[in-house]
Amino acid sequence: TQSKRTRLIAGNWKMNNDVPAAKELAEALVEQVPASDAVEVVICPPTIDLACTSHKIAGSAIKLGAQNVYWEAKGAYTGETSCDMLKSVDATYCIIGHSERRDYFHETDEDINKKAKALMAAGITPISCCGESLEVREAGKHVEFVVDQIKKDTEGLEITDPSKYVVAYEPIWAIGTGKTATAADAQEVCGAIRATLVEVFGQETADGIRILYGGSAKPENIAGFLAEEDVDGALVGGASLVAESFAAMVEKA
Ligand code: PGA
Repeated sequence: TQSKRTRLIAGNWKMNNDVPAAKELAEALVEQVPASDAVEVVICPPTIDLACTSHKIAGSAIKLGAQNVYWEAKGAYTGETSCDMLKSVDATYCIIGHSERRDYFHETDEDINKKAKALMAAGITPISCCGESLEVREAGKHVEFVVDQIKKDTEGLEITDPSKYVVAYEPIWAIGTGKTATAADAQEVCGAIRATLVEVFGQETADGIRILYGGSAKPENIAGFLAEEDVDGALVGGASLVAESFAAMVEKA
């Protein structure tokens, strides 16, 4: 049941905020986001903002996440960022497999699986995204599609602490569109994700893994999602760019 899992609200800034803007938003968040033992709060700025954001949120209850990582330790991988580099700015979370990375940068489930393994070996918690397109949903194949992603993305993963692996269900048709899934839509898929995690990792581990909903989540609709059995938090895009909105969502969690 939900009581075993600490809620998690994560903000995905995507490609928004240069260094001055990131500092300003981080400062506003430190002032406005309520601290609570019941909710974990993570912000995921662009790579270039990680160091300055880390500095601004140091000592607050807000944790730092990245939006992407590369699995190799170091070397000739122009433009990439390693797990150790993320650790050096005190990032403790990292989004992987966001639909924008799958679509625009051709990331595969195999890549996402390698990223998850590298992050977990480094002690960074992956927020591993999954979710179907409108076409798949309209064909009624969304559950099957997401279950298949989960199986591929978790293949060979070893989870010793289930609070250190997070799944985010983000139906692509609801991202940045203002069209949210209903709470029942979210529960249908998040329930199927949990059942798949039980198959892969066993009941006890699956019960401890947080599953987030993402896609036009905002202060007005977050409570409905969180009331569902298998929804343990939210991955927030647009609304995480406004301190008041993000703080209000943490408050409602
Ligand atoms: P959105 O984005 O909240 O702007 O829909 C969510 C996400 O893509 O993580």
